[in-house]
Amino acid sequence: MKKPFLLFVTISVITFTLFALAQSQSPPAIPDEGKTHAGEGSATAPATEHFDGKVWWNYVKVLAADDMEGRETGSTGLRKAQDYVVEQLKSAGLEPVGTKGYFQAVQFVSRQIVEKDSSLALIHGGQVEPLALGDDAIFNTRVDLAPKLEASLVFAGYGLTVPELGYNDLAGLDLRDKVIVIFGGAPAEIPGALASHYQSAGERWKALRKAGVRGIINIPNPTAMDIPWSRISANRTHPSMALKGAEFEETSGQDLAVTFNPERAQKLFEGSGHTLDELVALVKERKPLPRFPLAVSIRAKASVNKKELESANLVAEFPGSDPKLKNEYVVLSAHLDHLGLGEPINGDRIYNGAMDNASGSAVLLDLVGSLRKLGRHPKRSLLFVFVTGEEKGLLGSRYFTAHPTVKPGSMIANINIDMFLPIVPLKVLTVYGLGESDLGDMAREAAREQGVQVQADPEPQRNAFIRSDQYNFIRHGVPAVAMGVGFEKGSPEQDLFKNWRTQRYHAPSDDLDQPVDLVTAGKYEEIVRSLMIHAADGPGRPLWKASSFFRRYAPMASGSY
Ligand SMILES: [Zn+2]
Repeated sequence: MKKPFLLFVTISVITFTLFALAQSQSPPAIPDEGKTHAGEGSATAPATEHFDGKVWWNYVKVLAADDMEGRETGSTGLRKAQDYVVEQLKSAGLEPVGTKGYFQAVQFVSRQIVEKDSSLALIHGGQVEPLALGDDAIFNTRVDLAPKLEASLVFAGYGLTVPELGYNDLAGLDLRDKVIVIFGGAPAEIPGALASHYQSAGERWKALRKAGVRGIINIPNPTAMDIPWSRISANRTHPSMALKGAEFEETSGQDLAVTFNPERAQKLFEGSGHTLDELVALVKERKPLPRFPLAVSIRAKASVNKKELESANLVAEFPGSDPKLKNEYVVLSAHLDHLGLGEPINGDRIYNGAMDNASGSAVLLDLVGSLRKLGRHPKRSLLFVFVTGEEKGLLGSRYFTAHPTVKPGSMIANINIDMFLPIVPLKVLTVYGLGESDLGDMAREAAREQGVQVQADPEPQRNAFIRSDQYNFIRHGVPAVAMGVGFEKGSPEQDLFKNWRTQRYHAPSDDLDQPVDLVTAGKYEEIVRSLMIHAADGPGRPLWKASSFFRRYAPMASGSY
């Protein structure tokens, strides 16, 4: 799972140690139950038909081991993990459909702030108040920062424009050459999918650019902060990445991107007639926000180190059996990359990413392994895509969907797996995209077969729908779902998930030493497998619902297909 835009920090590659790659062509041995919490409390529950969770956990153990060094995009650690995955794909007999074997190379530009040559200050009527980088605010190098900038500030609420609803936070404001201050999030009146879509970096910037805005200071929505400020700040000088090439530039013209510590943000509102507390109270209630010019200006100096690097997606095919339908693909995707090595927390600097997202990659490997037992080929082909650069902003999937290695238009469904969190018994499955397409209905049916209820995203303000790789498939018209182990609002499980995010999400403690429910993992895999096969054998392509906002991206909807 990727952090929301403007909250983004990344971790650099530093070293690698020689590593004896797992040579085995079959899944690794059954784990030693005594050495992990995995499976605690659920040992007596019945196993599902194809998956017991143990094989899955063994894959996680390989991919999230310390010697993979957190699988940073472009690192030797990720390359090592990719080599392991390729061994599994080969041994399962899957066909390579990358551009070079299973690999599809992806070119990146990385950007790293040089703080000693960079600064931020607020200016109040000629008085300069320097900001402390890290404590007060941090630069976001996901955009190409201008070396120098000075601009007046305007508070623009959520900074959102939603044409479908006639909603416009920019209306009536003079934003020419201004930097806007905004809160992440959206008012309750905007449905989740729309709110998510228009908060994406590119969509947001389209409207802001038109209004003449030069930059954005984002105050993270305090109700949706997955990561405490201390952790955001600690890794602020690690490089961020962008896809190389003009076709991928979404924020050109944006000269400034800053994330402001919500606890220090009152200083932005001094003299404005409004207070931070007053605004945060509205944000917490998801209420509309006032919009007004601020009494302070911003002065920024940014020095950025840029360099180019290469990583890769992995693409493998299990061919379909129907002479015609085999030319269509059901795509299973998961990101293999994570954050790499970073600032130590409790002495640990390896961000293993066991749940994020060795867990999802392991589901794909386990599905691949289970194909043998199927004894036949489904009608449509299955495409397994292990993407890179997800943590850098869904970049590997963005590249793959822009330059698919199968015929454009042949991908009929995407099931993306990212951090599905099997940390409680699986009673309810959250399906992102549940109400958007026939694939959502098929997911409901697949879950029902396992006695599991489904629900739509219970926390739409977290923007999960646009925060993983399914979003790039959606933007290319492919009906998609992502599914995660869910909880009922107000249940004790909700606290477990909240604590997991606060303590382990994007921290070194998302490692192999954490409680995992293997029965839940197995049941989840069973649902994914069933959905995958139903989609591959189904009579027709899943379609977007007529009511779905995302239908506009489907080629058939515009008649050009
Ligand atoms: Zn993540």
